[in-house]
Amino acid sequence: MKRRIPKRYIVLISCTDKAPITFSFHPLAVIVPLAIAIVTPIAWVGMTLYSHSQRNLMLTEEAADVLQQLNALDAEVKNLRERAGLPRTEFAPTEADPKSSPQGGTGTPVEAEELLETANSRLPALSADLKQEIEPALENTLLREAARPTGIPLKVTTEISSPFGLRRNPFGRRSFEFHQGLDFTGAYGSPVHVTAPGTVEKAEWSGGYGYHVVVNHGYGYRTLYAHLSKLEVSQGAQVNNDQIVGYLGSTGRSSGPHLHYSVYRNGTVVDPQGYLD
Ligand SMILES: [Zn+2]
Repeated sequence: MKRRIPKRYIVLISCTDKAPITFSFHPLAVIVPLAIAIVTPIAWVGMTLYSHSQRNLMLTEEAADVLQQLNALDAEVKNLRERAGLPRTEFAPTEADPKSSPQGGTGTPVEAEELLETANSRLPALSADLKQEIEPALENTLLREAARPTGIPLKVTTEISSPFGLRRNPFGRRSFEFHQGLDFTGAYGSPVHVTAPGTVEKAEWSGGYGYHVVVNHGYGYRTLYAHLSKLEVSQGAQVNNDQIVGYLGSTGRSSGPHLHYSVYRNGTVVDPQGYLD
């Protein structure tokens, strides 16, 4: 059955000894504004709360992302410290790392502001560590690594004909001698390349090594190239890596064309095998 909305209502307020006050109104004229007056604030509060929580959620995710990147940066800084030969530092991962797994147990919700504050407080420390400690140490490491002799001083096909260490005297006497380097086979006149950049300390003749070149690479590294047929550099010259310092020969105490190659570390002769690659 259809309910009929009355057309108009009359409210009568009566007071003793006074003429009654009357209001006449249509019911819709009261219900509609009343509904608007109640629903609007509720909707506004609801919308505000929703948008705040959405914004907070976005900020939290953003802050968590920043912290995750900081953690990755931390790990990178740790690697750089090791490479630069600096002591290890205990790096503490940030508390909030929602993407790491597995997870469990109880957790306290972290506010976006708190996360961003943590991120902000860690950045200057990381930056200072990089600039003040790691960068100079790393530079030094790279220079030392660049000064380290690397590779074989010949570009032609070659073999080691005599290793480093004790060996029988190659001149047929029944005695042993300590061979202070490696002997490489190669065709007479093959170019001999320096194995690291440096300064030519010696480029001369001696009875034992014949024509030979000694290059000082700095950081305690020196290399010797001996029994050369011809010298290509002179004392005091700066040489780049791979530069030709002379040509393979058989001068000095040599039983045939070959290259004698020695590596010195802080004044002590060492096995060049550890420097071939
Ligand atoms: Zn030799």
